[in-house]
Amino acid sequence: METKQFKAESKKLLEMMINSIYTHKEIFLRELISNASDAIDKLYFKSLTDDGVGMNKDDFEILINVNKENRTITITDNGIGMTKDELENNLGTIAKSGSLDFKSTNELGEDVAIIGQFGVGFYSAFMVSDLVTVRSRAYGSDKAYEWQSEGVEGYTIDECDKEKPGTEIVLHIKEDTEEEKYAEYLEQYRLQSIIRKYSDYIRFPIKMDVEHERKKEETENEYEKFIERETINSMVPVWKKNKSELTDEEYNNFYKDKFFDYSDPIKHIHVKTEGTATYNALMYIPSKAPYDYYTREFEKGLQLYANGVLIMDKCADLLPDYFSFVKGLVDSEDLSLNISREMLQHDRQLRLIAKSIEKTIKNELTKMLKNEREKYEEFYKAFGLQLKAGVYSSYGMNKDTLVDLLMFTSSSEEKYTTLEEYVTRMREDQKYIYYASGESIQRIKNLPQTEMIREKGYEILYLTENVDEFAVKMLGSYKEKQFMSVSSGDLGLDTPEEKEEIKAKSEENKEMFTFMKDSLDGKVKEVRLSQRLKSHPFCLTSDGELSLEMEKVLNAMPTDNKVKAERVLEINPEHGIFEKLRELYSSDKDTLKKYTDLLYTQALLIEGLSVEDPVEFSNMICDLMIK
Ligand code: ADP
Repeated sequence: METKQFKAESKKLLEMMINSIYTHKEIFLRELISNASDAIDKLYFKSLTDDGVGMNKDDFEILINVNKENRTITITDNGIGMTKDELENNLGTIAKSGSLDFKSTNELGEDVAIIGQFGVGFYSAFMVSDLVTVRSRAYGSDKAYEWQSEGVEGYTIDECDKEKPGTEIVLHIKEDTEEEKYAEYLEQYRLQSIIRKYSDYIRFPIKMDVEHERKKEETENEYEKFIERETINSMVPVWKKNKSELTDEEYNNFYKDKFFDYSDPIKHIHVKTEGTATYNALMYIPSKAPYDYYTREFEKGLQLYANGVLIMDKCADLLPDYFSFVKGLVDSEDLSLNISREMLQHDRQLRLIAKSIEKTIKNELTKMLKNEREKYEEFYKAFGLQLKAGVYSSYGMNKDTLVDLLMFTSSSEEKYTTLEEYVTRMREDQKYIYYASGESIQRIKNLPQTEMIREKGYEILYLTENVDEFAVKMLGSYKEKQFMSVSSGDLGLDTPEEKEEIKAKSEENKEMFTFMKDSLDGKVKEVRLSQRLKSHPFCLTSDGELSLEMEKVLNAMPTDNKVKAERVLEINPEHGIFEKLRELYSSDKDTLKKYTDLLYTQALLIEGLSVEDPVEFSNMICDLMIK
């Protein structure tokens, strides 16, 4: 018989499984039971609309058998089964190989990352087995096949006999070693406890032939052994249980098992609602963003059950985009079983459920922000970006829903602050909510235009993420306080007298500024005196809606429509540079022209914008140096 090779990536994964030092090897059983349950789900679902299946709900079961002498565990299901092709494709390759992260230790140095990722489930059998045999017959086919593998060397596949549809997996358990006592998995009590720990909620009975002892009839002290087939799991789905029956650990285990995460979630949300929308929901907020979260590949959605039967794996309509990080499931009696994907979108009941779910999530987040600040900040680190994007997208339609969930780092202690907190801290004479944007907090702090505001004791929001300024602009104001960029417009910092003074000075030097502007040849809209600078000689700001940061963000996008902010070069009237410029204007216009260029280029550097001709810039500096 020919031995076929595993695909390269599968081989790598297999090797890891075989040599795994993972301490929770017991999860192999959870993985296989979970696969069996999925397979039964598929056939059960079919049976609801197709009499040809000829099975009732009570007929479905998962059977676990142990044979100590042969060192085998057999897991049998009467689910949908696999065809020959499916055996090869499903068990010979990793389902989502491209996205697999082969990292095998987490921050704590635990060997976990790989386990729980998509498509590794079946392979976990090799953590405890040195030979795996899968016999399967697909529903609707009259042929059965046997797939067999000892590990990395490859697998064989051959026709075999199997009376009924379904799958039977025989694990040959590894020999014990110094460190590992694999034989423990051949003990029935051990298997029972693993099943109860991880698979209690599985909706179909997981049965085992359990050995008991009883006193022989009509004897005093003689005992006999007998075997009884028992259902080990309680079969009640976690979400149908009462909150009081469940521990955090049970909630978390269910999450990790079901939604392929290896970290505990930050929060679980368990609701049972009756009224306009009747449903049970169990939702989770993950503690970290999945690796593909901020990509196009990420699919949002909650699992949708109609009265306990899974009808859709990722129902996108149940979650608004801005809460797309929520994982979980919804189970409702109000939904029809054979509803199609297309019809579902227009289902009134589903829309009611979605509305109610959105409210629930928002309330939970609000509560967390109020009562569990640290947790909320952890959440916000992972998903704050999504909330901010939600404020900005759809023309700000959802900004009122989201605004009080937002946080920004602020100059006060450089910690996260909500807008509400900012506003309560605002000084009496403070007109605006100030913000500054830039690549990093350090860079923003160094911006000349933040110095004066900070010195006056006003707080500044530091916007470091691309979406931040767009979101803030979309908000416009908060509690009637307008947002104000430190880099544009009138910051409202000056007294009327100071304003008058600047106006007079500007008037006096009007011609010089026009000369400087013209010499920059369209690069700036204006050169003017600044009212926002303290010790720094000059800065670059912008007029109009588009800021320099927004220009950077938009131009980094892969489109041909490049935008340009209206730049303004501002000069500090209190700095020596101003007098120097005035002197040059009356005595040496050529040099003034050069200096203007130098000022502008330096301003670009401060703002983190690229300099068109760095060589010319450095030549000019060198000329100055040798003068
Ligand atoms: P995952 O379950 O994450 O997709 P697995 O490696 O555990 O990855 O399984 C791969 C695929 O093999 C499953 O998606 C399923 O299609 C198929 N499969 C596994 N076990 C069974 C089974 N007992 N019955 C039918 N199909 C199965």
